[in-house]
Formats: sequence, structure tokens, C-alpha cells
Amino acid sequence: MDSDVAEYLRQLRMKVTPKRLAIIDILKKESGYLSPEEIWRRMKKRFARIGLPTVYRNLEELANGKVIYRITHPNRQLYYFYCGNSVHHHHFVCVACRAVNDIEYCAIGDLQEEVRRKLSGRVVSHLLQVNGLCRNCLKKNYKGTWR
Ligand SMILES: [Zn+2]
Ligand SMILES: [Zn+2]
Ligand SMILES: [Zn+2]
Repeated sequence: MDSDVAEYLRQLRMKVTPKRLAIIDILKKESGYLSPEEIWRRMKKRFARIGLPTVYRNLEELANGKVIYRITHPNRQLYYFYCGNSVHHHHFVCVACRAVNDIEYCAIGDLQEEVRRKLSGRVVSHLLQVNGLCRNCLKKNYKGTWR
């Protein structure tokens, strides 16, 4: 099992459990995002009696700890993705093939300024996920729909 991941969980003061490590391992092996059901099916090969609610709970705990990312698809299904990039960044998510690419660009400085100037408020956090079609899917002239 991945000792770096175990160390990382400890740093976050998250309990290192075999199930959490297995979920991270499964997501790490995947180039794209997975649904909770897909993760559950893979988990059942390692933990025969594991239930879907347990998988859901562990996914949420890992996502809350920012160990894994939630991907909200336009089809309204929730997915999860592992990314080891520790620099502040956002994700460009392909809605067709599930590829995820890092975008190390963030306009939060301008947004903070806008919120301060127009609303006299202060930004404490932000979420940004950019959905689209990746280069490969554009090449294949993807015309499908995800709804
Ligand atoms: Zn794609
Ligand atoms: Zn990333
Ligand atoms: Zn940002």
C-alpha cells in the first residue's frame, strides 16, 4: 500500500484505514473520474461485504479533507477524482471521456476585488470546475449528449 498517501492522511489528521487507502488507490489508478457505484464495485473485490453507504461515507470524508475531489457533472451525477497536484489549481473536466486536466490559472484575485468593491464583502473560499470537451473528444467530433 502507498505509504505516501498514509503519511498524507496522517498530516491531515485523518485516520488511516484500509478502506480509505483502497479508495485512494482505486482512484489513483484511474485517469478519469469515477462514480460512487463504480468505486463500490471495485471495492467489493477487496472488501467482499462492503456496502455502498460505507463507500459513500468514506468518499465524502476524503473529499471534505481535500484528499480527493468531487466532480459535479452536468448530468447531475456526482463523481470523484484523485489529483496529487498540491499547487492551487482548478479542473477542466471532459464531460464525454472523463478526462480531467489541471488548469493552474485562477482569477480569484479579480473576483475578491470585485466582491470587495461592489458588495463590500470578503471572499473566504471558492469553487471552480470548468466543464467541456477535451482535445481528443473534439478530434473525434463528439456529438453525443450526456443528459
Ligand atoms: Zn474527452
Ligand atoms: Zn488537479
Ligand atoms: Zn482558484
